[in-house]
Amino acid sequence: MPSDAEVSSAFVSLLIVEDEPRYLDSTRLLLTSSIQRIDAAMTGAQALAWLAQHSYDLVLLDLRLPDTSGHDLMAHLRERHPGTRIIVMSGNSNIESAIHSIRLGAYDYLRKPCEPEELIKTVRNAAHKVRLERDNLRMLQQIEQSEQWHRLLVNTSPDVIYTLDGEGRFTFLNESISRVLGYHPDELVGKSYEAIVPDEELDNARYRLNERRTGDRSTRNVDLLLKRKEDLLTGSGEATVAVEVSAAGMYRPLPDGSGEFLGTYGVARDISARKQAEATITFQAYHDLLTGLPNRALFNDRLGQAIAQARRHGQALAVMFLDMDRFKVVNDTHGHLVGDGLLQGMAQRLRGSLREGDTLARIGGDEFMLLLPHVRSRDNAAFIADKIIASLKHPFHVDGHEIYSGMSIGIAVYPEDGDNQETLIKHADLAMYHAKDHGRNDFRFFTHDLQHSLTGRLAVENDMRHALTRGEFEMYYQPQVDIQSQRIRGMEALIRWHHPERGMVPPNDFIPIAEECGLIAPISEWVLDTACKQAKAWRAANMPAISLGVNLSARQIEHPHFVDKFIHSLKENGIDGQGIEIEITESTLMRDMEGAIEKLRRLADQGVEISIDDFGTGYSSLSYLRKLPVHTLKIDRSFIHDLSAPSNGGTIVAGITAMAKGLRLNVVAEGVETSAQLEYLESIGCDSYQGYLFSRPVAARDATGLLQPH
Ligand code: C2E
Ligand code: MG
Ligand code: MG
Repeated sequence: MPSDAEVSSAFVSLLIVEDEPRYLDSTRLLLTSSIQRIDAAMTGAQALAWLAQHSYDLVLLDLRLPDTSGHDLMAHLRERHPGTRIIVMSGNSNIESAIHSIRLGAYDYLRKPCEPEELIKTVRNAAHKVRLERDNLRMLQQIEQSEQWHRLLVNTSPDVIYTLDGEGRFTFLNESISRVLGYHPDELVGKSYEAIVPDEELDNARYRLNERRTGDRSTRNVDLLLKRKEDLLTGSGEATVAVEVSAAGMYRPLPDGSGEFLGTYGVARDISARKQAEATITFQAYHDLLTGLPNRALFNDRLGQAIAQARRHGQALAVMFLDMDRFKVVNDTHGHLVGDGLLQGMAQRLRGSLREGDTLARIGGDEFMLLLPHVRSRDNAAFIADKIIASLKHPFHVDGHEIYSGMSIGIAVYPEDGDNQETLIKHADLAMYHAKDHGRNDFRFFTHDLQHSLTGRLAVENDMRHALTRGEFEMYYQPQVDIQSQRIRGMEALIRWHHPERGMVPPNDFIPIAEECGLIAPISEWVLDTACKQAKAWRAANMPAISLGVNLSARQIEHPHFVDKFIHSLKENGIDGQGIEIEITESTLMRDMEGAIEKLRRLADQGVEISIDDFGTGYSSLSYLRKLPVHTLKIDRSFIHDLSAPSNGGTIVAGITAMAKGLRLNVVAEGVETSAQLEYLESIGCDSYQGYLFSRPVAARDATGLLQPH
């Protein structure tokens, strides 16, 4: 027997309740062809037993039963099996009985004895109804389910799905509209699409959001801005949302082959996140993230456009190259965070001196470039440069520090000083160097004479690249002298650059540039190599054993393979670390104390001695001295210089000397130029000195001469 669940829609079950066996059999026989399942009960009790097991579609009920009244059974059926149709059979022909039965819920009424045709017709009729109803129910269920599905699909779609009527009014919006624009769908239904379009997009939206075309010509993935619902409470967030719209017209086909326009359906996808990401990427590609200013790429772009425009209209423009004075010192003494803060403050202050349309860019560490696309004369540019310099009279306040920072500015004007980007920038750079040479915090215009003086940073950078291969560097040596014995205890190696046109360039003029442009690495290698060779040569020539001091730059020490390279250099030249002394400034150490300690220890293990250069100018914290394998302190020459002035230079020098003695460190006084200075140093027990008084830095040959025992 199939279970109820498996019953097909055509299957109909029938229970015949009839106490007359003959009548029962004939009825069953008559109905088997049209009813799939027929059970029979001859008493009320039997009927109840069947009904307890099965729900019948139809019950053919004889009202007169031996044990129960047919009406009681009907009441039971109505209560427990309300879906079952009851066809009552009764020998009672009176109309009241029939009415009573119908009232009790009978579906139909047959008078006994009835004609077989009538019986068959009545039962088939009822069975047909059962089947129809069942099909109907199933269909309804299916429709309801598929509608639920569609509703779910439409409403859970992250995209806004909408329809418009022929007049452009919303007839439907899915729930995504509330996430994307903040409206409840009901707030917009009946309103024109214009309600969600910002004014500037109305023209666009008329043919996009409100598309009437179909097929290939309809709107596909078109970017549009929509207006967010005004948030009266917070008033925050973007006013518009970027969406990508696809829309098409809806038509009802007409018999003549044309169509009646019903409205528009469309999908709008929120692409604001993508737009945002695109904007961020573009911004990052064209801006300096620290200051938010345009970067070199964007500057070049704008300069290119400005030149084209100036050329077309026969106008002038100015390019300024701005370089902060002494920024490195700020960075080294106060750390990078303060340096960054200063750069941000500087960017802000510079912007304050500019007009709309001017482009200020940060193009390197402490370098800025400025494009003034509309200058009438040089005076115009000079006025702006003056304004900038005047604005820097007041200090910057960064992280509790009061910092004064100046600017050296070089100016090149189109078309006189150059008619293309490259030349203008190069010439502004040259002029900036000229300004720096002339006392800083000032501006200079490019002149053609300048070109030959080759003071520009770009020129320096360029020339430096060739200096190594062309052998333009030379090592000079300056003796360090023991005050008691007047004997040379060491030599400091100091690099010199013989520039083919500029003559001798002092290290302070190119080492910082080399550090910035990365050339410091090969130069340092050359320095170390040359110093090692010299040390070896002096040893081979049986010169007195001295220490050879080599200056290290911060960039060099920061290099991860610095120690390995150093040791490799020693090995390659066949010398050990003994007799090599490296000179590091305090600020260099402070940049990465932990890293420096580790690296210097490894070098000290090789016998290399370590001295702190320019001591006293950086951090006065002495605690680090205990952590480091330091051997020597070199007192900065500014303190020695101050010895002659009536200031406290003496106290400082005496203090440092006493402290160094306490820590069992050597002390070298730098920059000793007079015998008065030397006498003072001797009186406070300073070990040794270095300075013009004994000797200026000299070439290797002369240094060898100085070493030769008299
Ligand atoms: P520093 O290490 O403090 O070198 C001492 C500087 O003082 C040298 O300047 C020297 O010529 C100068 N000097 C020596 N005695 C006197 C004196 O009596 N009076 C005056 N006024 N100056 C004196 P120089 O050679 O111009 O070097 C400047 C700086 O450049 C050095 O300062 C050092 O920091 C750096 N430097 C020099 N050679 C190298 C090098 O090979 N590598 C690196 N990384 N830096 C170097
Ligand atoms: Mg030095
Ligand atoms: Mg020094």
